[in-house]
Amino acid sequence: MTLRCEVISVGTELLLGQIVDTNASWLSEKLNDVGLNVLHHQTVGDNANRMKAVFEQAQHRSDLVIVTGGLGPTEDDLTREVAAELFDTSLLIDEQVMNQIVQFFDDRNISMTENNRKQALHFKGGHTFENFVGMAPGLAFNHQGVNWFFLPGVPKEMKDIMSNGIVPYLHQLGLTDGKLYYRTLYFQGIGESILETELLDLIQAQTNPTIAPLAGDGYVVVRLAAKTNRQDDAEDMFDELEELIRFRVGKYMVNQPRSKTEQVIEHFKAQNISLASCESLTGGLFSSTIVDHAGVSSFYYGSLITYNNQSKQELANVPATILNGEGPVSPACAKAMAAGTAHKLNTDVAISFTGVAGPNDENGISAGTVYIGLSVYGNVHSKLFQFTGSRQDVRQAATDAGMKYLYDQIVRQ
Ligand code: ATP
Ligand code: MG
Repeated sequence: MTLRCEVISVGTELLLGQIVDTNASWLSEKLNDVGLNVLHHQTVGDNANRMKAVFEQAQHRSDLVIVTGGLGPTEDDLTREVAAELFDTSLLIDEQVMNQIVQFFDDRNISMTENNRKQALHFKGGHTFENFVGMAPGLAFNHQGVNWFFLPGVPKEMKDIMSNGIVPYLHQLGLTDGKLYYRTLYFQGIGESILETELLDLIQAQTNPTIAPLAGDGYVVVRLAAKTNRQDDAEDMFDELEELIRFRVGKYMVNQPRSKTEQVIEHFKAQNISLASCESLTGGLFSSTIVDHAGVSSFYYGSLITYNNQSKQELANVPATILNGEGPVSPACAKAMAAGTAHKLNTDVAISFTGVAGPNDENGISAGTVYIGLSVYGNVHSKLFQFTGSRQDVRQAATDAGMKYLYDQIVRQ
């Protein structure tokens, strides 16, 4: 049976948002690497009552618990005391650790304050892991069948004790369950949901390896994960499963996935479709995204940057009636910009961007409102988007949405 693992991070600074809990994610990865499943993360401040409640819950629902933080010398470092109460055991001074602490202060010629003795305390009936990079050792205690481990909060110390003390100890106890190995397969030209449907019975039947489809930018990733002790075994398991997957959706498999932008560019080039753009709020960002790729001049004619009404009118031939009527941020204007640009530059396709980048609303239109227009061989349509975030976020999101619009309307057809 796989153990249910839990990671508890102790420290009020974590709750205040002053530091980011990198310990929990690092520990989770480490536990997953040795085939252990982490089912819960918890964070609690330096408060004895709340810490006790969190520990009791973990004792109740988990088989292996790792706690970081609160092992230092100061008043607010309460982890040991709270745990000893839960375990109904006492705290004893570890003479060897005590000597090291005394030595540490002697070596530096500083006098040791009494509270530093705390760091030499360990659980009666428990186990300690030496701290080679700091002062407080790691601690272990088995309470009613649940394996508890305690690590200092300082990341460098936490990592060292986990890697060199606890993981070997878990191996010794026979608690680890192989390593996790991964293989990634890429698919193009098939959506995530269709791919998932095609593989559903495999996904549901497989426990080792597992199959997880994830959406990428213009492609789908299928991640295979195998839990085993040897790389060779993992490769064999992957080969077998990959063959089943290939049999069903092999024609969509690619070695190197390409982004939406790359697929759009390739399609326009290959089909010899000419493209131009007309940009208001994106101010050239769309053009720049295309031009980031070499060799696009064969199909991409350029962009009209029409940032105000006058340029929309003069460069893209947007009728004054639209600008004074529906206004520059409207479906009518987006369509007129696309149509006018296709006409002016004589391209098969033209795309246009108009909207409110923010941060403030404009003329009663909220920040993040964007209309993208598309003219395809004279057929003109537009689409409304509502983005959030900073001005830069909105402009980037509009550019990405434009690329997706072209991809959906032209590449995928
Ligand atoms: P110390 O002896 O330093 O007091 P400690 O075991 O009591 O060690 P804490 O006081 O909780 O640990 O944390 C010490 C420092 O380690 C924090 O100030 C912070 O910079 C870092 N730290 C603690 N917990 C985490 C965490 N979960 N993720 C990342 N960094 C952390
Ligand atoms: Mg501390």
